[in-house]
Amino acid sequence: MSDWTAKAACRSEPLRLFFPEVGMNPDHAIEVCGRCPVRAECLEFALNTGQQHGVWGGLTAYERKKQRSYRVIFCNVCARRFSWKPAESFQHPPVYCSDACRRSARLATHAAGYQRRKQSA
Ligand code: SF4
Ligand SMILES: [Zn+2]
Repeated sequence: MSDWTAKAACRSEPLRLFFPEVGMNPDHAIEVCGRCPVRAECLEFALNTGQQHGVWGGLTAYERKKQRSYRVIFCNVCARRFSWKPAESFQHPPVYCSDACRRSARLATHAAGYQRRKQSA
């Protein structure tokens, strides 16, 4: 594993919480993941390496299994969590949750370009 594990919020937690036995509640582990700074890296690692057990990146094994048919994405503008289901496997995942966020990203790009032109004029 790469160095993201050094920043893992679960380092000081008992491992068994993250690998709950059948019938055990994973809520505490999920809560720890919620404030973990490397949640995205952790989830990506679990999905890429096909981890079959335990809580990784705030998702249980069952939730990760569902992730294979849809992806949870964080909007680049408002950071809202949304799910996306690819219609075709070669489709790229979207980076904005809505048209409003796409527009505001475009406006920000235009504004940055305008500033640059103004400064170089
Ligand atoms: S997301 Fe959860 S399981 Fe992954 S490193 Fe962070 S606390 Fe640990
Ligand atoms: Zn958004």
